[in-house]
Amino acid sequence: MTELDGQVAIVSGASRGIGEAIARSLSEAGCSVACVARDAARAAAVADTLESEGRGYACDVSDPAACADLVAAVDGELGPVDILVNNAGITRDNVLVRLKDEDWQTVMDTNLRGAFNTTRAVARGMMKRRAGRIINIASVVGLTGNRGQANYAASKAGLVGFSKSVALELASRGVLVNVVAPGFIETDMTSDLPEEARVALFERIPLGRLGRPEDVAGVVRFLAGPAAAYMTGQVLVVDGGMVMNG
Ligand code: NAP
Repeated sequence: MTELDGQVAIVSGASRGIGEAIARSLSEAGCSVACVARDAARAAAVADTLESEGRGYACDVSDPAACADLVAAVDGELGPVDILVNNAGITRDNVLVRLKDEDWQTVMDTNLRGAFNTTRAVARGMMKRRAGRIINIASVVGLTGNRGQANYAASKAGLVGFSKSVALELASRGVLVNVVAPGFIETDMTSDLPEEARVALFERIPLGRLGRPEDVAGVVRFLAGPAAAYMTGQVLVVDGGMVMNG
């Protein structure tokens, strides 16, 4: 018996990187996991190798109708959704004056609107059942800003405001909403960092290494579980101590 036995989780962006590690971690905790990505085959490849029941779903989270269909399909095939992890995210980096309208819009549509689309789609059911966990994956750059990432940082800062607002709205119905803000984690998203930039980063990270996807997944598992029953509207920073607030 594990702490999330019998629960159903949706993890967006679960075909690789942080999302894959989150799917594996929730599966080890006993969840049935719906692994979501635009690439159906890659989502299914992760789902098929999970410890508990898993299913791959193709869905572009920036499409509201697709998100409503996704939640209905998961409800029918795995059961009502107990846990939603909004992890799908992209970057389109450039300095402000070279940032194209499309770079701004695509990042907003995926990172911020995507979370709105899926959250709205699961909210009614969770409210009715008077239980649910929603965990949104933001980024430390949404808290601090970052050169060359005005679009990405704005989307992640927006996700924090969105999460706190929804946390306030849903608290009385037993639905808890929290944010995890990772620092630099070793995934495809950060794989093109030049060696010099990596070395410079180590200097800024007190724990002296980049994060691993599992470092984020462990915190998500905690937020999804019984130990976090009295937490909502919080932002947990997972960055090796790089940013210390407060
Ligand atoms: P990644 O390796 O690039 O993986 C991104 C995942 O999101 C893939 O599964 C991708 O699959 C999916 N995805 C992208 N656009 C999507 C869409 N429109 N609809 C559905 N799925 C979509 O990224 P990662 O590094 O694991 O990052 C995961 C999350 O953590 C992101 O929100 C990112 O902003 C955040 N984060 C990452 C870091 C880091 O250092 N890596 C730091 C802070 C925050 P498809 O391409 O098949 O759709």
